[in-house]
Amino acid sequence: MGAVSCRTVLSPALKETALSDIKRVYAFGGEGTEGGQEMKFQLGGKGANLAEMARLGLPVPPGFTITCQACMEYYNSDPPSFPPGLSAEIAAAVSVLENKMGKLLGNDGDPLLVSVRSGSPFSMPGMMDTVLNLGLNDVSVQGLIAQTGNERFAWDSYRRFIQMFSKVVLDIEGPTTWHAGEAFENAITLKRQARDVRFDTDLSAQDLKDLVSEFKEIVSANVHPDEFPSLVGADGRVVFPQDVAAQLQLSIEAVFRSWMNRRAVDYRRMEKIPDDLGTAVNIQAMVFGNKGEDSATGVAFTRNPADGTNEIYGDFLTNAQGEDVVAGIRNTQPLIELKTTPGLEQAGAELWEVFDTLQNHYRDMCDIEFTIEQTKLWMLQTRIGKRTARAALKVAVDMVGEGMISKEEAVLRVDPQQLDQLLHPQFDVNATYDVYAKGLNASPGAAVGEVVFSADDAVTAAEEGRSVILVRWETTPDDLHGMIAAKGILTSHGGKTSHAAVVARGMGKPCVCGADKLKIDSANCIASVADSDVELHEGDVISIDGTTGIVVLGAVTLVEPGVSGDFDTILSWADEFRTMGVRANADTPEDAQLGRDFGAAGIGLCRTEHMFLGERKQIIQNFVLAETREERHAELAKLLTEQVRDYEGILEAMDGLPVTIRLLDPPLHEFLDNPRELELEIVRAELAGASKEVTAPLRKLLVQIDSMTEANPMLGLRGCRLGIMHPEIYAMQVRAIARATSTLKKRGLDPRPEIMIPLVSVVAELSTLRAESEKVLAEVAAAEGMKLDIPIGTMIELPRAAVTADEIAEFADFFSFGTNDLTQTTFGFSRDDIEAKFLPKYLERKILARNPFETIDSGVAQLVEMGCDRGRLTNPGIKLGVCGEHGGDPESVKIFFKIGLNYVSCSPYRVPLARLASAQAALEAAAKSSDNR
Ligand code: PEP
Ligand code: MG
Repeated sequence: MGAVSCRTVLSPALKETALSDIKRVYAFGGEGTEGGQEMKFQLGGKGANLAEMARLGLPVPPGFTITCQACMEYYNSDPPSFPPGLSAEIAAAVSVLENKMGKLLGNDGDPLLVSVRSGSPFSMPGMMDTVLNLGLNDVSVQGLIAQTGNERFAWDSYRRFIQMFSKVVLDIEGPTTWHAGEAFENAITLKRQARDVRFDTDLSAQDLKDLVSEFKEIVSANVHPDEFPSLVGADGRVVFPQDVAAQLQLSIEAVFRSWMNRRAVDYRRMEKIPDDLGTAVNIQAMVFGNKGEDSATGVAFTRNPADGTNEIYGDFLTNAQGEDVVAGIRNTQPLIELKTTPGLEQAGAELWEVFDTLQNHYRDMCDIEFTIEQTKLWMLQTRIGKRTARAALKVAVDMVGEGMISKEEAVLRVDPQQLDQLLHPQFDVNATYDVYAKGLNASPGAAVGEVVFSADDAVTAAEEGRSVILVRWETTPDDLHGMIAAKGILTSHGGKTSHAAVVARGMGKPCVCGADKLKIDSANCIASVADSDVELHEGDVISIDGTTGIVVLGAVTLVEPGVSGDFDTILSWADEFRTMGVRANADTPEDAQLGRDFGAAGIGLCRTEHMFLGERKQIIQNFVLAETREERHAELAKLLTEQVRDYEGILEAMDGLPVTIRLLDPPLHEFLDNPRELELEIVRAELAGASKEVTAPLRKLLVQIDSMTEANPMLGLRGCRLGIMHPEIYAMQVRAIARATSTLKKRGLDPRPEIMIPLVSVVAELSTLRAESEKVLAEVAAAEGMKLDIPIGTMIELPRAAVTADEIAEFADFFSFGTNDLTQTTFGFSRDDIEAKFLPKYLERKILARNPFETIDSGVAQLVEMGCDRGRLTNPGIKLGVCGEHGGDPESVKIFFKIGLNYVSCSPYRVPLARLASAQAALEAAAKSSDNR
């Protein structure tokens, strides 16, 4: 059936309850409605809201809902089957429904027809199955004709039912009979041709009656008897079921099964919806919007979901069924015309009242489906409407203005993750394009530019005023200047925490990484995609969308980000409620300013290695490779001059706010040439006959570089170990920080640097480096004749540091949790490799629920908590923050709030998200504590 098996273990409590004692069916519609809005985890969103609308006295066609838990019981039995008692409960609910409607399922006089629809706790639009017009058979179709006097309508309903039932229940479009699904459409086409008409609507009642016979034959010819033994007739072939109880039972099972179809499973994975919630099944009396010109069907939003304007927004179709509106077969009419359409005026007026009732009741924008059957309005669905980020902000702010919700509710309603949409350029929604390649959506926003294959070419092009996309196998710190110059970055390797991804996010630059079908030949400046013959050459224009991971040939129209007044309003309210600080990770005065503009209260991480690139790289290379003390000191002196200027710039941009400057962290070889490329260069020169005088110095350099190569550089000579091995580097950096501070103070400014030592695992590393730093600070203070009060702290990014945080805290004024490295070292996962190598499989097989480099893992969070608790034991006043990528992830921000961190720090572009998430965490915690009281 194309379904994936799903078994969850029943909780002991559930096992102990006699299965037949569990209530699995809830009625709704008119008197005797049993559920309500609060029961979405039992009745699914659709069922809970149908019950709620019925409770409000709105016209809801009656029906009943089978719970999501019944669906999971179905899956938990082997083979999947209804739990004991469910069939009887359904039969009883059908009787109640028949009594309410005064009609009987399958009756030849006035038959009841029902729809069977899925409805999970979280909206999964179009992912699961639906059967309409159930209850039609060779007998009841006569009843429908008698009741409606419309033979054509009755036969058309019957043929639609057979077609839908065959697809959803009999799986007639399944992989083994894929052609059979088309057989229905072919039969309709042949009939149209035979009658020489263009549209289905031109077929007569007799034509549709003939089609019903043909459809039944298609079923018999295409459904294997072994698959549905209960439907096998006397001739050994499957017969389309005439028994309405069998139709219902099979349809309910099919909807249960659709919970585990591929589409639904994939959608849940994307939306992070758990697999064990199950779907409810709603069985509801059918109403028809296709009974003539006084009938209609439509969808509506109580506000404009695109921009939030306070207006009714929607479409309708007269004489049509619900699917016709969404299928886009006929042109719909704007909803506003409903009230003036002859025959529909009264239902239209009533609908407008329903909009008010629902919006006032839910106190939010509602999304509504309705049908008008022969002038009578029926409500088929409502839910809180999905909306764009811009609309979410406007609706929230407007509703506060209208007195409908409080500021707190407004802040809680906006999804921080969604705000990202507003902070970067996007592809125009009206643009059409073909996708050339797809990679990981590593850094949001879209960019258009000419392809370049090297960082230097990116810089040259940018200097000429051209927009470029830097296309690399994967980027390294060497590419930084090119990344700065490019409008966007595209790589064929690496995951969402690869160098390209992290740096691009930091810069707020669009990045698509790990587009593994892209073959890049940067030596010849050509790229191609595995299943395409189009080659990309330097200068070709492409567009990338880092929000979706899409790569397109040619220029797609972009829409610039807009931060409207509503955005500011919500953030200023968020600031009133939040208690946790938000800082920015920034390495340049420009980024510092950007962070400040977005509301950052300082810099939580300034990665100083980013200051050693470009022209400075040569200085540090010379330093690393220097053979004498004098040479080394000469290079350091040059770096010192540059560093003083760097720190002055960044401290000035953040004047009056704390700036945490991390001393050098990466392994030194990252500043050296790539030995593979150097070796190639030497071999090529040798082959070309170069003399020994030319190649010998190169070979010597290669030996030097090789001698610095480490098997696992992330665990090698980096972080504070560099400070211990090369004390002169850290001394130079501390001196530069102290001098910059002194200069700015003399200018009357208020610089507030904090010195941060990375990758400490043993307290003695910190105590040693702290003492050395303090000595340098004292020297500068004495030389400058001023007091320099610069806090010194450390990063906690190794498990041992978290566990021994009480010892470390005695020498630290602050801790900043480096959760990138802490995740890497806690799991033993290489942050540069896992996403390309095995993370997708881990997620697919549910070995991991999510990428631990994106959202903080519970084990790593426990280490953070332990680090905080132990740190405070010996140093109660210690300041605690986080500066890993998780600091900008709304879900992680909420966890950090619970742990009790003082601040989070993230890339400037994520500062607004973190402000909002932090406020939401505070509001949610306050609501919980008042519940407990
Ligand atoms: C970290 O490890 O979390 C961190 C912020 O440092 P980096 O990413 O520079 O290693
Ligand atoms: Mg780190």
